[in-house]
Amino acid sequence: MIVTTLREIIFSMQSGQRVSKIILKSSPDMLCTNLMCEKVTLPCMCKLEATLNKINLDYCTLLDLSGNSMTSLPYNISRMKNLNELHIQNNLLVSIDDTLFENMTDLKLINVTGNPLQRIPENLKKLCIF
Ligand SMILES: [Zn+2]
Repeated sequence: MIVTTLREIIFSMQSGQRVSKIILKSSPDMLCTNLMCEKVTLPCMCKLEATLNKINLDYCTLLDLSGNSMTSLPYNISRMKNLNELHIQNNLLVSIDDTLFENMTDLKLINVTGNPLQRIPENLKKLCIF
């Protein structure tokens, strides 16, 4: 199923459905509501990371996190080994950790336009739109 909110990710788990596409463009779900987190009320990956930890990410082929003022990528995208497309344009990323992509063999596109990136890892350059 295609999910567009964190609630739908939880629903997919409860109903035993496979998540194939995660689309969280300019999503209010990316604003932190965790009072224990230093980024509460600000854009933060903690809720998304906690939610992704609950589900099987093997079937996810597309992840769209564009337009969320993100300063880092959720660490658990490294479990999306069948990811084809990653849309992270229009965020605040200054670097990309290429170790997150080590297990992705089908990755075809990373859209990084509109980020203040200092550099793009050499091994990811051919996949990137920037
Ligand atoms: Zn947080």
